[in-house]
Amino acid sequence: MSEGAVKKEEKPRKFQAIRGTRDLLPPETALWNRVEQTAHKVFATFGFGEIRIPIFEQTELFARAVGGETDIVSKEMYSFEDHESDELAALRTLLIAKQPSVSDPNFFWSYEMKVTEFRERLGRAIEIGEVGRTPLNERVLADLGPLLDSLAFDRQEYEKTKDAAIFERFNLYVGTIRRHLLAVDLGDQVSLRPEATASVCRAYIEHNMNQLPQPVKLYYMGPMFRRERPQKGRYRQFYQIGAEVLGGSDAPAIDAEVIEMVMTFFDRLELEGVQLDLNSIGCRDCRPKYVELLRAELVKVKDKLGADSQRRIETNPLRVLDSKLEGEQGIIATLPHIADHLCDDCKTHYAPVKHQLEMRGVIYRENWRLVRGLDYYMRTTFEITAQGLGSQNAVCGGGRYDGLVELLGGPPTKGIGFAIGEDRLILSLQESGKAAAQQGRDVYIAWMGDRAHATAIRAAKGLRKAGFSVELPPVELKFGKALGQADKLGAKYALILGDNEVSEGLWTLKTLADGSQAKFTEPDLIEHLKKQL
Ligand code: ATP
Ligand code: MG
Repeated sequence: MSEGAVKKEEKPRKFQAIRGTRDLLPPETALWNRVEQTAHKVFATFGFGEIRIPIFEQTELFARAVGGETDIVSKEMYSFEDHESDELAALRTLLIAKQPSVSDPNFFWSYEMKVTEFRERLGRAIEIGEVGRTPLNERVLADLGPLLDSLAFDRQEYEKTKDAAIFERFNLYVGTIRRHLLAVDLGDQVSLRPEATASVCRAYIEHNMNQLPQPVKLYYMGPMFRRERPQKGRYRQFYQIGAEVLGGSDAPAIDAEVIEMVMTFFDRLELEGVQLDLNSIGCRDCRPKYVELLRAELVKVKDKLGADSQRRIETNPLRVLDSKLEGEQGIIATLPHIADHLCDDCKTHYAPVKHQLEMRGVIYRENWRLVRGLDYYMRTTFEITAQGLGSQNAVCGGGRYDGLVELLGGPPTKGIGFAIGEDRLILSLQESGKAAAQQGRDVYIAWMGDRAHATAIRAAKGLRKAGFSVELPPVELKFGKALGQADKLGAKYALILGDNEVSEGLWTLKTLADGSQAKFTEPDLIEHLKKQL
């Protein structure tokens, strides 16, 4: 019995989307498209261009930009080793696992052959670019030559003498070879992107965008990946729409214009209950001092705080301000405000940002407790919430990140940006009744008979070319059944094509809302529909 036949007996396994991921289906996808089209349009009016960046990057890029101590990098990233040469990796695993044994007469010989094979494959892989030509890889390649020679020499000696001392020496070579094999860099440690700012900065540097007219204004949209606990408004694959302004200037008007742009976008979508919170979290000079002060104050009230906040006194005192715990709110209210501890430079930056927002008619609320979870933020930070989202109500987070480009090896650069959670934006729009309706058809073509079928195909082509949405049933249906289907699909019109219509050259158009019918020639029909729809 073939394998296929055995399998037939069992019910094939059903698959489900992975926890934290989901399918987006029509008609909801129409709303996603509307949101994205609006973003393209609004951002273009602010002079932003779209950047499309890869879904995965070197893990190191995110570790450096987002911060190794953040939740995102320390526990939420999807990471894997990415090597092109699986065979080489498998051979290495095998060689590392092998233990020399006196009782296996072939061990020496087979070990030597396998290492020789590894060395040859590695050389070839480097040659064709499958494995990086790094100094370390080249050294391993070079060192393996003499090591193999010594191995071969000892093997021959041992075969002749069976001397235990030679066996010991052989063992030592095996250890050295193992260390060399482990050192080979077969590929990159990569991660699915948990956010996009790091990649945009990487691209800015890689493409020398500092030589373009400054600032460079970019926006992106697409999926991000974080291994978080899934719940309403929180997914493991979620979507962001974001923008970044990179360049030489940190003029407060840039901050204000970026915020004005998000607010304009939300306004255009008629998002409801929009609330913009604003703060300045200082810079490398003043923030550490404030953090120390905060820590000192928190230590005094440690006993009154919950376990999470107690831990954060050490790891990240700013995050205590984020706490939503009822019992901690009273204590948090008494803590020092960063606004009172900003350095002069930060103060002279923050005040005009607020003034600029006022000039643009952007309504904001100052929130001294607003801190961000990513390391790279400084000075201006903001968060936007919307209604209908429960506790996951932040639809946008953003802020200034001067110095991030330098941290990634680029030239001194100022930067500010934001990321909108598109899933939450959509949820909020749906909650306030802005969901897109099922897309109906303009025309359903009910046809009967072979000649009518040919005419129906021609009619569908003409109507679609004119931009109408057309449903053409693939097999003949009785007119009654066809009209029932047209109704179910929410079609506005049914075009009825039978023998009479075809021979007369006059097509019957039925308006489904009121059941009225009229006859048209082919060109008149299209003209008529253009006027109606
Ligand atoms: P939160 O505090 O809600 O976890 P965050 O500070 O981690 O948000 P950012 O990294 O600044 O968020 O990302 C910007 C926006 O992306 C958030 O305001 C939110 O709308 C959205 N977002 C972040 N994580 C998720 C997720 N797991 N699922 C859906 N949307 C998310
Ligand atoms: Mg988060």
